[in-house]
Amino acid sequence: MTNDSSIKVEVHGKDISPEAADSFRHNAAEINKIFANLAEEFGVPWCEVTFILAEDYAAKVAEIEAAIGSPFAQNVSTDRVGGVARAKAISMDDDSAQWCLVFDPFYLVSEDTDPLVILGDRYVFLLTMCHEVAHVLIGRTRAECGFSREIDRPSKTACGKARNFAMAALEEYRADALASAVLGLVLPEAAQREGESPRRFTSHDLHGDSYGEGLVLALSGPLVSAMCEAVADFRSDVCGLNDAVVKVWELSSATLTLFGHAQAIADEGGRADALRESLAGLNNVADSIARAWAAIVEPIRSSGVMFTLDQALTIERALAKTGERAVLRLWEELGIECSDTGDGIWVEPVL
Ligand SMILES: [Zn+2]
Repeated sequence: MTNDSSIKVEVHGKDISPEAADSFRHNAAEINKIFANLAEEFGVPWCEVTFILAEDYAAKVAEIEAAIGSPFAQNVSTDRVGGVARAKAISMDDDSAQWCLVFDPFYLVSEDTDPLVILGDRYVFLLTMCHEVAHVLIGRTRAECGFSREIDRPSKTACGKARNFAMAALEEYRADALASAVLGLVLPEAAQREGESPRRFTSHDLHGDSYGEGLVLALSGPLVSAMCEAVADFRSDVCGLNDAVVKVWELSSATLTLFGHAQAIADEGGRADALRESLAGLNNVADSIARAWAAIVEPIRSSGVMFTLDQALTIERALAKTGERAVLRLWEELGIECSDTGDGIWVEPVL
């Protein structure tokens, strides 16, 4: 098998300079080729990837989601817990054989004049490109091994929702880890202090501990209060159980996803212990979330984030099962117990 690494590129927006468009084309081709080769190593056939640079990023994402009849088309939002979304990988069919990767040119059109800031922005953009193509590699592997056919997205069952949330957070961790590895191949080696040998550039060189700090901030205040309030509001009849549950689901999913990014970047920088310590003793909710995340990520943290096509189905199934259990237990610790009855989801407040 030799993977074809030809790509399609679209650039939309009058404020994107020809130089920026050219470098986008060049980088897209280079990064796609590295991932196509990686896929070949893992025994995964590559696919058709369209790289889209769009000034009106959210509108482009909504347009593509609508074209494929995605349930997410109606409410495309770029707000995320801990940041703003500036890129998205969209699988265009059930086989994940065609992908559109949409990018916001934010980091390419900076008006800053400091060359170091401009260079930093360019590197962040490259890392983002690597991250989105990593989603393609993970998605392709899942489709080819048959795992994608075993899962419903979005799911209508409690177990399915728990599993999908865990797998989504884990996918961010995996995509970040792969992205950082590929970034190291694309960029020159990082400058070192005297006496140290040169080494590859990583995501931690770009982001430092900022994702971990964002996670600590979220878990110290707003997220935790929002989850506790949702459960308290239900208990005091301010809102229905349904609203409380949906809120806990959404917030816990968003927090685990942020954890995925923070963990991947901390691991790259040898800062995993520092991240764990910064989260210790914040509050009970933070403890529960940290415990759930540790259970979700533990199976692949030491073994590596990618595996061959032959191993993929067994490993993905095991990751999904572990993740599902961890999230169901997390919800219980947050105050709601969710189980499937056959005709729906049974939710019971844990008092
Ligand atoms: Zn992602």
